[in-house]
Amino acid sequence: MILFEKVADLQQYLSEYYTSDATIGFVPTMGALHEGHLSLVQQAVERNDISVCSIFVNPTQFDDKADLERYPRTLAEDMDLLRSVGNRLIFSPTVEEMYPPGLDTASGVDFGDMATHMEGAHRSGHFEGVAQVVKRLVDIVQPDHMYMGQKDYQQQALMRHMMRELDYKTEVVTCPIIREADGLAMSSRNRHLTPEERENAGQINKVLARLKENAKTLSLTEVHAQALRELENIPGATPDYLEIVDALTLKRLNNFEDAESVVACTTVRIGKVRLLDNMILR
Ligand code: AMP
Repeated sequence: MILFEKVADLQQYLSEYYTSDATIGFVPTMGALHEGHLSLVQQAVERNDISVCSIFVNPTQFDDKADLERYPRTLAEDMDLLRSVGNRLIFSPTVEEMYPPGLDTASGVDFGDMATHMEGAHRSGHFEGVAQVVKRLVDIVQPDHMYMGQKDYQQQALMRHMMRELDYKTEVVTCPIIREADGLAMSSRNRHLTPEERENAGQINKVLARLKENAKTLSLTEVHAQALRELENIPGATPDYLEIVDALTLKRLNNFEDAESVVACTTVRIGKVRLLDNMILR
């Protein structure tokens, strides 16, 4: 396994892949890896000739400085985990390497209404930062396939949109949510929960599962109101939002019949941690 810190070194190594039919799989991460990340890396390894995993805590996507400072950085452990799943290349650049002065790295992509609700409404500038870092990384790595988690549902939808808008060859592959035994979606931030908060956090996914079950018989408005009440009733929890949206366009729905595929997305704050989860209803 090779760790690259410089863009030029990684590109030099990858140059023979750029000019051949060999495929490059890419997994962008912020490190503090867990089984969720590794499931993406495993697909990148299995389905491509070479896989690159980036580890970069991107400052431009954090609207909360304390969250950025608190974000776990565990490169040595991450490298062991990546080795264990056969990942060959790691790219872990500095902020200066990613954003050299004078280089315009803004994505320039207009996401319209797709980015203004849900996470977009609660984290100012977040998706501009995500688009900036992902475009920069894709420009560097030039992957055939980029693996992203369904856990960050809005993010993967926006990145799919961005690849289309930029007319890039990179295909976004969305991978299922990996969960703890009680259903909590794995996240690098879960380690900041106290034992009591951690136990309560397991309720979030159960609320979404009930929502899905109730959607078979009740209207969208009814299941939404009921699930929101249930989220509010989790001890210590404050939901930032619960939205039921078109799974492709992310448009808010009034009726289940208004879209071919439907997803319920939520973010719930417990203690200092924002916990994202979602469930595809149809
Ligand atoms: P992050 O390091 O949080 O930026 O996440 C890097 C990638 O891993 C993103 O595409 C996430 O959606 C994905 N990911 C994070 N947690 C999970 C999970 N529990 N299951 C599947 N993918 C995940």
